[in-house]
Amino acid sequence: MNWISDWALPKVKAIFGGTREVPDNLWHKCPSCEQMIFHRDLERNLHVCTHCGHHMRISANARVKATLDEGWSRIELPKAPADPLRFRDQRRYGDRLKEAQQKNAMDDAVLVAQGSIEGRKAVVAAFEFAFMGGSMGAGVGEALVTAAKLAVLQDAPLIVFTASGGARMQEGTVSLMQMPRTVIATRMVKEAGLPFIVVMCDPTTGGVTASFAMLGDIHIAEPGALIGFAGARVIEQTVREKLPEGFQRAEYLLQHGILDMVVKRHDMRATLARVISLLREPMPLVTPTPDLPALPAPDAPAEAARPA
Ligand SMILES: [Zn+2]
Repeated sequence: MNWISDWALPKVKAIFGGTREVPDNLWHKCPSCEQMIFHRDLERNLHVCTHCGHHMRISANARVKATLDEGWSRIELPKAPADPLRFRDQRRYGDRLKEAQQKNAMDDAVLVAQGSIEGRKAVVAAFEFAFMGGSMGAGVGEALVTAAKLAVLQDAPLIVFTASGGARMQEGTVSLMQMPRTVIATRMVKEAGLPFIVVMCDPTTGGVTASFAMLGDIHIAEPGALIGFAGARVIEQTVREKLPEGFQRAEYLLQHGILDMVVKRHDMRATLARVISLLREPMPLVTPTPDLPALPAPDAPAEAARPA
């Protein structure tokens, strides 16, 4: 290559015994402001840029850890049929799947956990975007059905953090079947009178948006998250119009009534706890203060209630 890599680098490595390998991922570049952030600072700040507040993608495990109180447990998920169509593009789907499983230490793209949020019990399902783009195949469908059943069994609300590119193309029709399947799963939670809360993270698109993700009782999103069905370019070409500024971003969707809240990652835990308590805990009874004058009887004529 050049003299640095061929000659100087081996010498330097020899001097230091070649054991002090410096990992090349100690510094991260913020995709929004392009500033460099040290990996420990980034982790401590829940992968939110310390300079501009940009919310970067975060692993499913880190997400659950940031949401649930200590002592949460990961749920073992039933095995889904791997590679039902024996699909192959440039590579075998089975090989891609195995690689993703090893890299992420997960069987598929959703992690299900149970625990509590500020003392209120909850079941959480978090998408792992690094696992084949968080795409929804039979494994993800199975995970969401399991999470819904568990929520009903535990009499706990179900919170799903979505981060997905949509249906898993390599599973063809099987992946599309997960759309009605996950919708039925969330219906089970609703029929049991339990809250179903969706937290849309960057990005929530395709078949996930077009199924259970838009059926929450409460829709929350992280700042700047991309949320939509088809990509902006496809829509622009179809409608032949220039799309407005911020189209398909969380803030735009909030303005247009698709979302209830846009919540910063640091406030997510407290917000979820508050929402659960509002939906689940009975309102305290207000006892009348003895000093106040008594209200007129409901059947008294309106005139009598007016001051003289
Ligand atoms: Zn930044």
